[in-house]
Amino acid sequence: MAEDSSCLLCGLLDETHDHLFFTCEFSSRCLQLLSDWLSVVIPGQNTVNWWVSMRFRSLFLKRITGAAICSLFYQVWHARNKCLHESVMVVPKIIIQFIRQVICTRIRHVISYKLQEKHSRLIRRFMS
Ligand SMILES: [Zn+2]
Repeated sequence: MAEDSSCLLCGLLDETHDHLFFTCEFSSRCLQLLSDWLSVVIPGQNTVNWWVSMRFRSLFLKRITGAAICSLFYQVWHARNKCLHESVMVVPKIIIQFIRQVICTRIRHVISYKLQEKHSRLIRRFMS
């Protein structure tokens, strides 16, 4: 008996590494919501273009964006496993809300006050 290799998040294509994290419509929607929140272009698989587009952005924004993308990879994997083991489907909007909450908490509690002052306008935008 062959196992079903369909993507658990969209059910449209086989679940490969590239599909799950980059081309799946679920992941693409998450990336789009993350891009909207951070006001940066996150072009999926083409990380070279992303780094080029980020070259004039502040180190602070680069770090926040990097942390958000790493968190997104984990959350997509977590959503996939939640679907597999608990038959629960998480919607992209909830994933992004969670990532926003984690990033904002880290900004508030981990990043020094001096750095927060320097990037206060950016931080206010993230937290709104
Ligand atoms: Zn998919």
